[in-house]
Amino acid sequence: MLPEIHLVAAARPNLPKLAALWHALAEDAPFCRPVLVHTGQHHDAAMFAGHLEDLGLPAPEVALGVTGGGHAGLTGRTLMACAGLWQARRPALVVVAGDVDGTLAAALAARKLGIPVAHLEAGLRCGDRDMPEEINRRAVDAISDLLWAPDHDTAARLLAEGHHAGAVRAVGNSMVDTLLRRLPAARARPLPAGLAPGGFGVLTLHRAANVDGRAALAALLAGVAEAARLLPLAWPLHPRTRLRLDEFGLAMPPGVLPLPPLGYLDFLALLAAARVAATDSGGVQEEAAALGVPCLTLRPSTERPVTLHSGANRLSTAAGLAADLRGVLAGWPPARPIPLWDNAVGARMVAHLRDFLATAVLEAAA
Ligand code: UDP
Repeated sequence: MLPEIHLVAAARPNLPKLAALWHALAEDAPFCRPVLVHTGQHHDAAMFAGHLEDLGLPAPEVALGVTGGGHAGLTGRTLMACAGLWQARRPALVVVAGDVDGTLAAALAARKLGIPVAHLEAGLRCGDRDMPEEINRRAVDAISDLLWAPDHDTAARLLAEGHHAGAVRAVGNSMVDTLLRRLPAARARPLPAGLAPGGFGVLTLHRAANVDGRAALAALLAGVAEAARLLPLAWPLHPRTRLRLDEFGLAMPPGVLPLPPLGYLDFLALLAAARVAATDSGGVQEEAAALGVPCLTLRPSTERPVTLHSGANRLSTAAGLAADLRGVLAGWPPARPIPLWDNAVGARMVAHLRDFLATAVLEAAA
């Protein structure tokens, strides 16, 4: 019987990352049985199930159904559910992706049971230790056995932190692998009514620091209102942001087209046709860079500095957004391609996995 490898999906941004590995495993000669495990963190059709078909993923074989409850409750209950699963199933390896609470919980559960863990998208650091995602990614990297870094600088940082050279591999950006494979299908999708290619920008916001406080969100909306006078903005609203806008009684500025959370292909179609992206999302910074769409990141720092160095992305602020958008519309110099951001990222992860499992089998036999 082939050893099982469990791929843990907790939230929306995990899915395009895991899809690159899933498809590369399917293309390789079978040496393991991949099992998709859904923790439940994002669980409705708009944020999870609807994305599976767009990404060519099957329905999860295991659905743990852990939802809601704040950071502590969600992390704790996901940890317990994962531990129960893996006590019974004992996979050869668990793959966790990104930096959400379910990523941390699954990594802890597996490692405490002596099951090796691979961290897909290891080594990212924004330097802001108050950001929940930064805490998760540092903790997951600290206990993972395989660390798949999205670029050479990130792999070098992991080595400088003291991680074992055999554990760290610069595999490239899995979001980009998926994007390149799905782009033809996305380009066949129609844009939302009223939008023409190149005639609008895409806005996404969902980070706690930007949307959970009324003052911060109101300041962002003021900046967005000014920017939208220069260029119409399409805004697929994250459920958390929609909730906060309602709770704080904040209105949509003129020139902004609010949209529901989009499916993966519809979002990719929108971004690919946009003149600019303004975002606090990690994945959107990467996707914009891969598509050659200038990106303004509405955060004081980014854990993806490679996008800044390539010239594809700049940090912006609520107060500076309109001026930065003017700069984009005046024309940015072309960005440089980022090494390893290609469609072979899944294959590189599989190669490392194969080496790791072969060594584990030899060690067990010795
Ligand atoms: N995304 C989507 N529909 C949307 C907005 C985003 O499918 O309406 C996808 C997109 O591919 C993006 C990914 O979700 O890169 C990442 O999600 P998000 O911004 O929520 O999380 P982050 O990358 O910041 O962790």
